[in-house]
Amino acid sequence: MVNFEQLHLIPRLLDALTAEGYTTPTPIQEQAIPVILEGKDLFGIAQTGTGKTAAFALPIIQLLQNKGVHETSGHRAIKTLICTPTRELAIQIGESFAAYGKHCHLRHTVIFGGVGQNPQVATLRRGVDILIATPGRLLDLMQQGFVHLQHLEIFVLDEADRMLDMGFIHDIRRIVAKIPVKRQTLFFSATLPNDIVALAHTLLHNPVRIEVTPPATTVDMIQQSVYYVSKEDKKLLLTHLLKDQQLTSVLVFSRTKHGADKIVKELLSKNIQAQAIHGNKSQNARQRALSAFKQGQIRVLVATDIAARGIDIDELSHVVNYDLPEVAETYVHRIGRTGRAGLSGVAFSFCDHADKVYLRDIHRLIKKELPVVSDHPFVLNQAYSAPIPPSTPSHHRPAPPAAANPVKRKWFGGPNRSR
Ligand code: AMP
Repeated sequence: MVNFEQLHLIPRLLDALTAEGYTTPTPIQEQAIPVILEGKDLFGIAQTGTGKTAAFALPIIQLLQNKGVHETSGHRAIKTLICTPTRELAIQIGESFAAYGKHCHLRHTVIFGGVGQNPQVATLRRGVDILIATPGRLLDLMQQGFVHLQHLEIFVLDEADRMLDMGFIHDIRRIVAKIPVKRQTLFFSATLPNDIVALAHTLLHNPVRIEVTPPATTVDMIQQSVYYVSKEDKKLLLTHLLKDQQLTSVLVFSRTKHGADKIVKELLSKNIQAQAIHGNKSQNARQRALSAFKQGQIRVLVATDIAARGIDIDELSHVVNYDLPEVAETYVHRIGRTGRAGLSGVAFSFCDHADKVYLRDIHRLIKKELPVVSDHPFVLNQAYSAPIPPSTPSHHRPAPPAAANPVKRKWFGGPNRSR
């Protein structure tokens, strides 16, 4: 197993990594850092949670630091641009650059929409080496003449698939049209639909392709279980589970925004501190909820997939799928919010009658069946979990539900929780 020294990182970065408590590079870091340090283009297939931010941030800082770009003629020009789809991701990437680059003399800033532009413009005027931006605000400030990218050397497109899902493709093309053709490009996507492959092809030059497959590893490391419960009883089951104080920071996934608000209302009525983040909330409200959650002021954050994608919370103890996702891959993305970077995590999934078809798809994707918890007060169909009298001939026994594999099991507070 390699360590960070063997990746030829400079002592200033190694010191910062020690301060962060990182001892071993993650697979994407191990593979991507040498490639980026060599100046090559990269096509990285990796999702959030794999350590991909450090995989690009560390070598970028090192390249810029070694070139002494910040010392050029007293005037700083943007040498690296990182485009990312959401404000939350942009802020997190900014935090990573601050942490890893704390012993270096580079300046970075983060720009995104939904807030006033003046502070962002003021920072840009003072000069930055590294710009982290969401596409809309970036284009806006470029058009107003506040962002100049003619000296750009490294371009990072983060979460490219998400960018396309969010309709940013035209913005991306307009941004790319304004940056130097001769540059190093790092392209990251969690999934590989055809339009992503096509986009990567237009942006990258002889890229090294690196694929890390967190789904299998993530899935294996996370303690998962399913609770059969009726739609009406889900809220009761959630408050029941939350009686366990081991559920310290819980991310609850709701299929709809309206559903997320209803869950929060229910929890607040039971004196459980909770807030929702979804598309109908303003950027500021979302950011406030996220910060309160990260700081432990609220115990439960209820989110829709769109809002939660990519949010990075180190101390997340549990993920609850209040509704199962309609797309099985989303399940893996959701539970990957816990069990980050080698830590174990816990994920509970609620399954009502209508959810069973989604559960079947999840089982197919992860190639195993989730253990069923049947010792809770709101079991959906008693016929399936009630003990069968030994005298009943086997052919008279009720058939178990196709996807179920009833195992009496209580995950929460289980012996494997390491956090
Ligand atoms: P990312 O995929 O970039 O969102 O990173 C996921 C999480 O892993 C973040 O909370 C990072 O702080 C953490 N992390 C990244 N690299 C390492 C590492 N080598 N060791 C431990 N934690 C890490």
